Amino acid sequence: MLRWGLIGASTIAAEHMIGAFRATGGEVTAVMSSDAARAGTYAKAHAIGRSTTDLDALLGRNDVDAVYVSTTNDLHRDQVIAAARAGKHVLCEKPLALTVADARAMVAECKTQGVVIATNHHLRNAATHRAMREAIRQGRIGRPLFARVFHAVYLPVHLQGWRITKPEAGGGVILDITVHDADTLRFVLDDEPVAVSAMTSHGGLGASGLEDGVMGVMRFKSGLIAQFHDAFTTRYAVTGFEVHGEDGSLIGRDCMTQVPKGEVWLRSEAGEEALPLVHENLYQRSVRLFQEAVAGQGMPSVTGEDGIRSLSVALATLEAARRGEETPINPDN
Ligand code: NDP
Repeated sequence: MLRWGLIGASTIAAEHMIGAFRATGGEVTAVMSSDAARAGTYAKAHAIGRSTTDLDALLGRNDVDAVYVSTTNDLHRDQVIAAARAGKHVLCEKPLALTVADARAMVAECKTQGVVIATNHHLRNAATHRAMREAIRQGRIGRPLFARVFHAVYLPVHLQGWRITKPEAGGGVILDITVHDADTLRFVLDDEPVAVSAMTSHGGLGASGLEDGVMGVMRFKSGLIAQFHDAFTTRYAVTGFEVHGEDGSLIGRDCMTQVPKGEVWLRSEAGEEALPLVHENLYQRSVRLFQEAVAGQGMPSVTGEDGIRSLSVALATLEAARRGEETPINPDN
């Protein structure tokens, strides 16, 4: 059982993570916010015993074993490094940071301090994506040649804040959604992207130059190419994830989502079949595997290194769109 401290009085913690910590047997002991009144209101609303505006006070608590960092993206680096130095295990939201160098520094500090760090890319925990990965590993579609990710959604009104107004906080659809596509593609395909081309769009939500739509193509080590479409502005699209191989195609629908749902069909010479799926709350699975990793049993579903690599893809996508050129992906700088 882990006792959690929340760094950030965020929506994601309120809507998904506090429930996941409790459902997996954990306790939420304290919350930190930059605003004392909000911290107090948040603590009361979610039955959290302590609230503070002082990071060191939260990190100094003996009843906090691990922290969940879900502040805006610009704050993750310093908060994660401070938490590691205080000996706390860290579950950090995506994107880990705003540069690969910062993300590397965070992961390195956790390693030095001997604490677990995981990145909260929830989609690896989806039954749909795990089933597609397994089907590919079993050779059921032969050599994968193409993938397509449909992740264009409508940003809920209550989240229309820093994501669409603050470049300095790490806003924009690429750092918010393309980073998830990158991580899910890396996981399902068990392959690494090496280059990306992209074009961004401005459909009326993004301000201060922030993109609210993107389409692009990633090239992987194996030679596979993957198309992606992400947006904050499409109210009626259906999400999906497809992999097309020499001997079959996997068609996932309604699967780029925060809730345990969606379906996957395998189409091949034998016909079409729905893959059997056992859905589980994505965030609870993330926390369960994190707890096990802290106990020395196995790995988190998404490691710190995964967080670095998936961030490097998102940053290369931003660069590719800016330059209008195919851009190499380099997770080492
Ligand atoms: P929020 O905007 O809800 O929270 C981010 C910060 O904004 C909080 O730490 C809080 O600061 C401040 N804040 C929140 N609500 C208010 C408010 N009403 N008034 C003033 N300030 C407020 O962001 P999200 O929860 O959507 O995202 C947080 C992090 O989680 C990001 O890194 C994001 O990328 C990630 N995320 C991940 C998801 C996933 O599925 N893995 C899904 C959604 C988000 P303070 O704590 O100082 O009060």
